[in-house]
Amino acid sequence: KVSIFWFRRDLRWEDNVGLYNALQSDYPVIPLFIFDKHILNKLPKNDARVSFIFDELQKMRNTAQEKFASSIAMYHGYPEEVFSQLISEFSIAEVHTNRDYEPYAKKRDAKIEALLAQNGVEFHTYKDQVFFEPNEVQKQDGGMYLVYTPYMKQWKKIFEDSKLTLASSENHLNKLYKNSRLPNLSLADMDFEKSEIQVPNYQLNKNFIEDYESTRDIPSIEGTSRLSPHLRFGTVGYRKILQQAMKSKNEIFWNELIWREFYKAILYHFPETVNRSFKPKYDQIEWRNNEDEFEKWKQGKTGYPIVDAGMRQLNETGWMHNRIRMIVGSFLCKHLLIDWRWGEAYFAEKLLDYEMSSNIGGWQWIAGSGVDAAPYFRVFNPYSQTDKFDKQKKYINKWVAEINTSTYPEPMVEHKMARQRCLATYKLALKS
Ligand code: FAD
Repeated sequence: KVSIFWFRRDLRWEDNVGLYNALQSDYPVIPLFIFDKHILNKLPKNDARVSFIFDELQKMRNTAQEKFASSIAMYHGYPEEVFSQLISEFSIAEVHTNRDYEPYAKKRDAKIEALLAQNGVEFHTYKDQVFFEPNEVQKQDGGMYLVYTPYMKQWKKIFEDSKLTLASSENHLNKLYKNSRLPNLSLADMDFEKSEIQVPNYQLNKNFIEDYESTRDIPSIEGTSRLSPHLRFGTVGYRKILQQAMKSKNEIFWNELIWREFYKAILYHFPETVNRSFKPKYDQIEWRNNEDEFEKWKQGKTGYPIVDAGMRQLNETGWMHNRIRMIVGSFLCKHLLIDWRWGEAYFAEKLLDYEMSSNIGGWQWIAGSGVDAAPYFRVFNPYSQTDKFDKQKKYINKWVAEINTSTYPEPMVEHKMARQRCLATYKLALKS
């Protein structure tokens, strides 16, 4: 008999709660990864996230082969079909995995659990990617917080009474199934190709966290951690990050990590907000949704240098600074009156750190339609944002090389007019 550990968004051998528990079972553990066709079929062939996942798995696979005469079984298929195949090939006692809270993941796991149960296989799931799950930080009356600050305070309060321990999965890897020839794949086997976009390393030392408050809003410097893609795919353990954050007295970095959990909890409790405004009145806004204007925004050709710099950074690197995400988002929804869902979908296609809960949370914050969102009348002024956060235009000059030439376009819309048009449109929708 064997046990299986199913990797999903936790691509590491160390401090992995589900893996640790799988390795405590009575049977050798087969590590498994499924390149899920339900997800991959919708992606372009050079998707940078698929390349990143693939590279990380190959590194992990090499470690397992060299040190433990084991491997990772890799499949490209639909999870339900892959599990049916595994059930026919192996005598499986248990399947272990870390919990995922997204709407698709919840449905997928329920299906797999039922399939395994029909075949007498136990299915065990664990908390790994968050410190508190969506139901663990609740108001006194048991409901979900709809405002961030009291959620954050309660999060910290219960954190003080909790123990932060790492799961020492890396110390038990000799329990892996001994067979270094478990099925492997290449990107070409899946009809994908290597992307030129790479995931950068993250920074997490004490000095960085101490300086974070003063550096995090300046897009021209490396003032943020770059942890987001690593958190998304679990190439760094979350508890290690929290341990580092605890070493600093400054809570600003900490608070950002809590935003991530807040948005996960919101999406979990309100899955319909994937494509509906959290505040229903905002779905009455008469978006202009002009396709040519959307195209200019996507390409970074709006004539607003800070917006264009952000969109070009996104297109070229798969990442955009948080301050600039807010500016380009506000420009799309408010200056151009294009539906936040269009912007959300474009970010989903391009961001290396694309996280459904944070992306929807971020876009609905900007549009004003989300929980605890920016008020509808807050229209970011791209010029004053530039004065505040990129006064010397270092960020702009880096991404918009032709800024001072005649080829750089005129602003596609006049700021004052756009602001008034936005306020009038929003007011009309909200009063009805
Ligand atoms: P740091 O500033 O170093 O922050 C550390 C970590 O805290 C981040 O890695 C992230 O996990 C978390 N965090 C920071 N800010 C936020 C926030 N506002 N909301 C939620 N978590 C946060 N973040 C994503 O991870 N995936 C997304 O798809 C995503 N889409 C966004 C869309 C919009 C419109 C906006 C305004 C924000 C979005 N964010 C998203 C949040 C934020 O911009 C990124 O997490 C951040 O820029 C990542 O860079 P970093 O790791 O260097 O951040």
